[in-house]
Amino acid sequence: MKERLSNYIGGTWRTSQSAHDERVFNPATGAVIAHAPLSTAEETAEAVAAAREAAPAWRMTPALDRIKYLFRLKRLFEEHLDELCRLCTDECGKTYAESNGELQRAIENIEVACGIPSLMQGYNNEDIARGIDEHMFREPLGVVAAITPFNFPGMIPFWFLPYAIATGNCFILKPSEKTPMTATRLTELMDMIELPRGVVQLVHGGKEVVDTLLDHPGVAAISFVGSTPTARYIYQRAAANGKRAQCQGGAKNPVVIMPDADMDSAARIVADAAFGCAGQRCLALSQAILIGSAREAFLERIIAIAETRKVGYGNTEGIEMGPVIRAESKARIEALIAQAQHDGARVTVDGRGKHVAGNEEGFFVFPTILEGLPDTSDVARTEIFGPVLTLADAPDLDTAIDMVNGRAHGNMACIFTSSGGAARRFRQEVSAGNVGINIGVAAPMAFFPFSGWNASFFGDLHAQGHHGVEFYTQTKVVVERWPKEWSRKF
Ligand code: NAD
Repeated sequence: MKERLSNYIGGTWRTSQSAHDERVFNPATGAVIAHAPLSTAEETAEAVAAAREAAPAWRMTPALDRIKYLFRLKRLFEEHLDELCRLCTDECGKTYAESNGELQRAIENIEVACGIPSLMQGYNNEDIARGIDEHMFREPLGVVAAITPFNFPGMIPFWFLPYAIATGNCFILKPSEKTPMTATRLTELMDMIELPRGVVQLVHGGKEVVDTLLDHPGVAAISFVGSTPTARYIYQRAAANGKRAQCQGGAKNPVVIMPDADMDSAARIVADAAFGCAGQRCLALSQAILIGSAREAFLERIIAIAETRKVGYGNTEGIEMGPVIRAESKARIEALIAQAQHDGARVTVDGRGKHVAGNEEGFFVFPTILEGLPDTSDVARTEIFGPVLTLADAPDLDTAIDMVNGRAHGNMACIFTSSGGAARRFRQEVSAGNVGINIGVAAPMAFFPFSGWNASFFGDLHAQGHHGVEFYTQTKVVVERWPKEWSRKF
């Protein structure tokens, strides 16, 4: 049997007593490469207890000392980058370059959190009344937990962990049971920096672990990234238990192509955004809205790129797109393409039923382009989460903005144009929290919030940067009176 992963609780690696496992696949080969235990409620409670025990001392550790661990962690991640990229590709399917991109963003988040001594500064006023001063301090919440999705196993835990521990909280990570290996290796590296026991916990598992964290009175805040139904569920259950929550959900991202766009770069960038990571990105572009005469020039180019994209095992040189995560995902995506066809769409480029030589058992869906999908089709509203781009037409920008704003999600919206006026209107009027102008994947840098809106986000403070610092701290306001006449003369 392949390796069964261990939990990391209170600074030690522990074998889960659970009788249930989830198989972890290399999606490019279809082979089982590890097993993730579906840990129990008791094991989750042990992780909370270990974190609670560590919390008082960690909180009182000066911020300057806390970030010394993060500086060490950053160096260690950089030293192990190649190994981490290969592992991430093996369990997740994306290309080596894509794994490298996500791990770089993880490192950037560590770098930003190293600025915590400044970032978590409060503010104050002298003499709000005679002899009275007022101060605001930021203090940690205590024990916080993050529940993360399969598609960015190296990056998304680090949207949270560096900020949580730098601000003085103790942290529990429940990674996706589909891609738990990168998080395990990253935790091994964290073990090497000798953080005090209990500052970071890793608990593998599924719903039982999540529900225990949501209900446990010892957990103060929940960070979540995943699909919209799970995000909504977690937000509601965390709120019902009086917890702070930030829940980033799914997406269905549109891009508008204006006739004055640079068509060569627009087609190339949109193809990367639609088919990169095999479409398994919350910032994947899934619908291109073509304005007037943009259609002909864009169509010809995007078809050529989709038909020639090099699909295969992501750790092989020159591969531009990997497989989707599971055999069930491949079946689901192919069924949605068939449903779209049944509902009246044309399959202009068909990625179904294709194989990669030497990796016949891999879960590959090739780039697919659909045209003429009626708005009444469920597929028009479903997050496909595969390499499928739908093309639609609109006579003008007004209609396109209405189409963009008519959808439930609001993770990202993009426009390609050479008109500053069109770009500015789009930026102001679209109902989406991340906007790309001549950009296909408008992924905020670590020092900006990852700003999903509408059904793509439940909460108010997002992941990363200042939002992360605010999310993981509570403000304490102190009003103090020291009248002059009380000062003694010595
Ligand atoms: P998912 O919702 O199936 O799982 C996410 C996490 O929630 C996992 O750790 C899983 O174990 C847990 N989970 C799943 N169902 C649960 C339940 N019923 N109760 C409690 N916990 C549960 O998502 P996924 O398939 O791993 O990831 C893909 C989704 O994540 C897509 O919808 C994608 O758009 C979204 N995503 C969003 C962002 C963002 O920033 N908005 C980023 C990445 C991915």
